[in-house]
Amino acid sequence: MKKLTLILFFISLNILSFGQDKPKVVATATMIWDMAKAVGGDLIEVESIVPIGGDPHLHEPTPRDAKLVASAQLILKNGLTFEGWLDELIENSGTEAKTILVTKDVNPIKSLTYENSADPHAWMDVRNGMVYAKNIKDALVELAPANKKEFEDNYQSYIKELEALDEYIIEQLNKIPKEKRILITSHDAFQYYGRRYGIQLEAILGTSTDAEAQTSDIRRLNQVIRDSKVPAVFIESTINPKLLKQLAKDNDIVIGGELYADSIGDEDSPAPSYIEMLRHNTDTIVKGLLYEKTDDSIEKENEESTNYWLFGLLAVLFIGGFLIVVRRLNN
Ligand SMILES: [Zn+2]
Repeated sequence: MKKLTLILFFISLNILSFGQDKPKVVATATMIWDMAKAVGGDLIEVESIVPIGGDPHLHEPTPRDAKLVASAQLILKNGLTFEGWLDELIENSGTEAKTILVTKDVNPIKSLTYENSADPHAWMDVRNGMVYAKNIKDALVELAPANKKEFEDNYQSYIKELEALDEYIIEQLNKIPKEKRILITSHDAFQYYGRRYGIQLEAILGTSTDAEAQTSDIRRLNQVIRDSKVPAVFIESTINPKLLKQLAKDNDIVIGGELYADSIGDEDSPAPSYIEMLRHNTDTIVKGLLYEKTDDSIEKENEESTNYWLFGLLAVLFIGGFLIVVRRLNN
């Protein structure tokens, strides 16, 4: 009987997967994954190697990644020294997938930290996002020419959304007086955003996250805050906020909020897609840089998150104490 159930189970699995032979596409990071979903719709199967909330600069490939890449027909990569781990992963997986550079035709910014290398964060400029979408669309048409019309249609309506987003960001940032347009973040991910939308960037770390902050970096930022009198600094969803919190505390300014740079957020976050990520970043930056001491809404938010930490710490201490007591009783 058990055997029969098993056989039936496998037959039904086969029936379910029959006709679902969609092209398998793999993106290295979640922004690219989201764009591929927008252009490919339900005509493709697409997954991201680095998960939501993961740091693509520091990603360490897993056996799951090797399987994913091995089964793919198309790999979408950012390039510009973003995915230092990818070539080895592709080689080890033995995949025959075609690899496409989604930044083809993007005008890259030189990395300020690393000589002869480019700043990878090109998606932060929506016009580059449009270039990504075009490269993805072209790659999908080549992969599944029978669906060309659908890909073209999806692409056209996505471009319209991106044009509206680009306008929205310009309009919103114009609310900030010129002298206050200074964005201080954890790592240097906003140079493309700054170049397009007219905002000066300062970060603790360089264009990658694989370095330690130096005392000189902190000193430089303290100086910038003092000179510019910016009211807020910003933390990032994929990076430990410790140093920035210290910086804010030392200068008696606020944490303006959390920005998404190297990953979109999950379904429950304010940034579950590429478009929403840039919209959320913009709203957060505008609100933070227009912050005035009399406005306590931002500080309240920060206090709440501190309370969570305190609650977590107390819970750990309580459980720890409980376990020690149980162990003693058992002895
Ligand atoms: Zn980055």
